[in-house]
Amino acid sequence: MRFLILADIHANLEALEAVLERARGQFDQVICCGDLVGYGPDPNQVTEAVRQLGPAVMVRGNHDKAAVGLTDLSLFNPLARSAALWTQTQLSEENRRYLLAMPRGPAEGSGFTVAHGSLLDEDQYLLNLEDALQSLSLAAHGLTFFGHTHVQGGFAWFKEQRAGPLNPGLRKAADESRLVLDWENRYLINPGAVGQPRDDDPRAAFAVFDQKKALLSYFRVEYPVGRVQQKMRNVGLPSYLADRLARGW
Ligand code: ZN
Repeated sequence: MRFLILADIHANLEALEAVLERARGQFDQVICCGDLVGYGPDPNQVTEAVRQLGPAVMVRGNHDKAAVGLTDLSLFNPLARSAALWTQTQLSEENRRYLLAMPRGPAEGSGFTVAHGSLLDEDQYLLNLEDALQSLSLAAHGLTFFGHTHVQGGFAWFKEQRAGPLNPGLRKAADESRLVLDWENRYLINPGAVGQPRDDDPRAAFAVFDQKKALLSYFRVEYPVGRVQQKMRNVGLPSYLADRLARGW
């Protein structure tokens, strides 16, 4: 089985379309680490596209919760809050119900685990090795997919009893990086954000996992950022949120 791993799409339809085009023919099923909506201008179209993909395993993200009133928005920063409130007014009833029914992570797949934040807390940011080690020690499988930080890569605990970050090294124009998995190691894999990267690379990020070959491939793909920014400005979303897409931060 080959899986397309998506995380943090954030209502960015152009980025999702570019990812699906690039990944075409390379996967059998989809895994989604959450945050379909929030920040971007196309919450309905993106939710519908994900519904059509019918992910084999998916978990909700903090912005999915916020869009359907499951979060205390006073905990969000003002820009995220304003985008969440706008998203609430846009969602169709059908899409709202779909987001409301998204399961809380972590969720188990066959041979892997899927989380939005971490294995301890669906809203925890795994940004450093210390926090990652806590989750790695709890993992039921040697392989966990997560999102939330919008940083492509992740962490590993190696059989030589040391841990380290995984850096796909795609920040200098390369668009594919492969990692052969060794099942004596343990992995926390972040495919990167489809719709709002925060790792200094504005290109949409995703990953493909080939279970039979034990091969994880990280990808980056260009998409029309300017078109998304224009849509965001047209609907009155905060301009900072549009600007950051071009910086990838
Ligand atoms: Zn997110």
